[in-house]
Order: sequence, then C-alpha cells, then structure tokens
Amino acid sequence: MAATKKVQEDLNLHNIVDGQFDIAAAFCKLPKGLLQQIKICNNVLYVQFPVKFGNKLEIFEGWRAEHSHHRKPLKGGIRYSRMVSQDEVMALAALMTYKCAIVNVPFGGSKGGLKLRARNYNTEHLEKITRRFTAELSAKRFIGPGSNVPAPDYGTGQREMAWMADTYDALHPGELDNMACVTGKPLSQGGIQGRTEATGRGVVYALRAVFDRGEQSKAVGLSGTLKDKSVSVQGFGNVGYHTANILQQEDGARIVAIGEWDCTLYNPDGIDIAALSRHRKRTDSIKQFKGAKTLPNPSDCLEVPCDILVPAALENQITLKNARRIKARIIAEAANGPTTPGAEAVLSQRGKVVLPDIFMNAGGVTVSYFEWTKNISHMRYGRMHKRLDESFRSSILDATEQLTKGQFPDRVRSSLQKGASERDLVNSGLEETMYAAYNEIYDVFRRKKKVQAMRTASYISAIEKIATSYEELGIFP
Ligand code: NAD
Repeated sequence: MAATKKVQEDLNLHNIVDGQFDIAAAFCKLPKGLLQQIKICNNVLYVQFPVKFGNKLEIFEGWRAEHSHHRKPLKGGIRYSRMVSQDEVMALAALMTYKCAIVNVPFGGSKGGLKLRARNYNTEHLEKITRRFTAELSAKRFIGPGSNVPAPDYGTGQREMAWMADTYDALHPGELDNMACVTGKPLSQGGIQGRTEATGRGVVYALRAVFDRGEQSKAVGLSGTLKDKSVSVQGFGNVGYHTANILQQEDGARIVAIGEWDCTLYNPDGIDIAALSRHRKRTDSIKQFKGAKTLPNPSDCLEVPCDILVPAALENQITLKNARRIKARIIAEAANGPTTPGAEAVLSQRGKVVLPDIFMNAGGVTVSYFEWTKNISHMRYGRMHKRLDESFRSSILDATEQLTKGQFPDRVRSSLQKGASERDLVNSGLEETMYAAYNEIYDVFRRKKKVQAMRTASYISAIEKIATSYEELGIFP
C-alpha cells in the first residue's frame, strides 16, 4: 500500500515574512544590497530578569527587536504570551516596518514580548513584571519617545501601557515628552480618543474601502455594502471584539460566529455582540452564551459558512490542514500572520480574496501615531478650532434660514452645527489612511499583472517607499 505523503509546512513566522518579502522584492527594480538592508533586523535585545513575589523569585524572559531605523522613532506592540520567541518578535518587527510604510506612518518597525501567560498572574504581579521589563528596556535604550515607542498587543492593553509610561517617567525625571514613550495609554494618562478600538475600526474601514471600490468584492460574488454580509471572527479580544461590534453596529453586518480559545459560538441569524461582551465580562468566558450554539472546537469559527472571515487571534491559524475547508470568500487578516503561505496559495486557487495583515491591522499604529503626535504637541486634537468651527457652521445655518425663510428642526441644527471632537478627527484620519492605503495597494495589484496576491502588492508598496527613504538619506547613492 502506498504511503500517503504528508506535506510539512514551515510555520516559522520569521521565515514566512522573509519569504513573502523575497517574492515582492523580485518585482522591485532595486539594488540587491538595498533590498537586503530593508529585509534584515537591525537590533535585538534579549533580557532575563527576576521578579520577587513574596519570598519566591521568578525569572522572566523578554525581547525587543528593532527592525528598521529608516524612520524614527521605532514603533511596535509588546505582547505577553507563552509562545513569544526571538524569531517571532523579529518577524513581527519586520511586519511593523512594512505596515508603517503602507499607511504612510513615519516610523520604523519594532516589536517586543515577554514569555508569560498573563492569565496566570494577578494584577499586582503583572504590574511588578511590567515595571521591571520597562526598566530593562530603558536601561538598554530600547524605549523612549524619540527612539522606540511600544504599544499594546496580544495579552497587553491600556493598563500595561500606563505602568510602562509611569516607570519610564520615574526613570527620566523632568523630561518633557516622557508620556510619548508608549501609545495606547488610558485617556487620562495622555492617551487618545479612539485608540482602544483603532485596530478593529481600521479593519472595518479597510473592508468598507474594498466594498466601496467594489472590484474585489464583486469578483467573489459579494455586491453592495457590508450590510447583511455574514462574518465569522476568531478571537474576542481587543481587535476581534471591536471589529465585530463596529461591523454589527455601524454597517449592519451579521456576526454569525465568534471563536475563542475554549470554544466557538455559532448562530447563522447573528450574535448580539454587546450582549456577548457583557456575558464574557460576567463569566470570564464566551461559553454558555444563550444567544448562540456552542461548538466545542475553537477553530470551528474558521470553517463555518460565512462571507467574510476575520482571524483576530494568533498566527498560523489557517494552514494547509484547514485551507480547503474555509468557506468565507474574503479573509480579512486582523491578527498578524494568521495564514501560512501554503494556505494562502490554496485559498487563492479557490478564488478567495486574502486581505493581508500588514494592511488590514495597520489602524492601531496609525492611531498610535496620532497619539504620539498629540503627546509631543501637549495638546488634544480639536481644542483650538472646535468652537471656531461651530460658530462658522452656525453662521452658515443662520444665513441659510434667513435666505429660505425656513428653520432647521432643532435636532438637525445641533448635529450640523457640531464641531469635530478628538474622536471625530481620529476616526476621520484613520478612515482617510485606510482608504488611501487600499487604493495604493490595489493599484499595484492591478498594474503588475504577474502579482498574484494582495500581500505581494502590499510588500511592493512598502519596499518601494522604504527604498526611497534610504536613497534620500544618502546611504545608497
Ligand atoms: P487580545 O489579547 O486582546 O485578544 C486575543 C484574543 O484571542 C483573546 O481573547 C484570546 O483569549 C483569544 N484567543 C487565544 N487563543 C485563541 C484561539 N486558539 N482561538 C480563538 N481565540 C483565541 O489581543 P489583540 O490585541 O486583540 O491582538 C490579536 C491579534 O491582533 C494579534 O495577532 C496581534 O498581534 C494583532 N494586532 C493587534 C493590534 C492591537 O492594537 N491590539 C494591532 C495590530 C495587530
């Protein structure tokens, strides 16, 4: 009997990212040395440090990779996960460099991580660990408003960013821009309206850009807008929750499945996301939610019937093992590296559109850029011109009423008169960024006939911009 041949996939994210870079680089008419410089990771910091809990000492391992210094500061999240490794952090730092270039955010790419399972520690312990890690980063100059600016990622959030900012501030007394040393902070600690949901909102704007332009959505048989489109989301954390919530609340999409680490929830008529979020807060799990059927396998969410699949948890979720069972027509990568190259080839042969992570989840770094700019200008967006804008609008409405001898209903008048708040400005800047980036990438995709994937088009767009930056710096005459 002939033995069945098993195809082994390389799941190392670093190799995957480098491989994707090489495919795109072949389309760029650039010197070999310059391409090599864009691809390599400039610095990696590895630290081991002790933290004392009572009379027990525990040693932690952490990394911060700096991929590219063609723009400064460098930017990228800090993740807390048992799976963190040097290779993973280096790969994610590279993705950050390409991501920033794609959305025209003037930063180089970085990424950091601590090898721990956050769920195993209480708040007090996590604070101690985070503060000690920040001190390590500061001592080695791997954090600072003008050098390297972390942000939340898997397993971290506003709380950790506030601890990091406070620790950095204590270590650098009197320095004016200390609060710009991290982004994703709570509002009261120099954060910005709209940052928490920015990555999810960016995913939604990117999907709207696809449906507005319509060529790719129609090519897979999806016409119109996102209204009533069925969506499955893997991961109900920051990115997954906000993507699902905004798609449901603002676009009228039907969220048919949510997958978490312990199960999948499925309801073809749609899951009430706000109710599920309340249930999760109450019980610490999505299990037992009454508004949907519980499927025991967490990865079932990837294979349920739906129009759009949003992997928003971890890397290497769509692989050669399950790619043939994916039913969605559009795969919107909200997580970093959720689809392996082998799986992407299968999906593409099957006529699916894969919208790549380096574009789809760039909303987070875009709004981080707005937060950093706010921190170094020491003023919130809209403060100088909101009232001026409102009085100008009011004059136009008065003049219109005089000319027409009519009167706007109170509700219409107050909504037309309202000046832009910080949140309005942030969302508008984010929307503009995601639409512009989609059009740039899609134009590359259409122009270069041999480019097979939106991912390759995205890398080409990034590589060309970074190359211009290096050439202008005079490094490559
Ligand atoms: P998070 O920690 O807030 O949420 C992740 C969620 O995934 C958690 O609820 C976790 O329980 C769940 N999960 C874990 N294993 C799972 C599994 N096997 N199946 C389904 N769900 C599982 O993290 P996040 O910030 O939402 O990040 C998610 C992804 O998005 C990561 O890949 C991250 O790198 C990427 N990302 C995040 C941001 C950001 O601003 N937070 C920005 C860009 C990219």
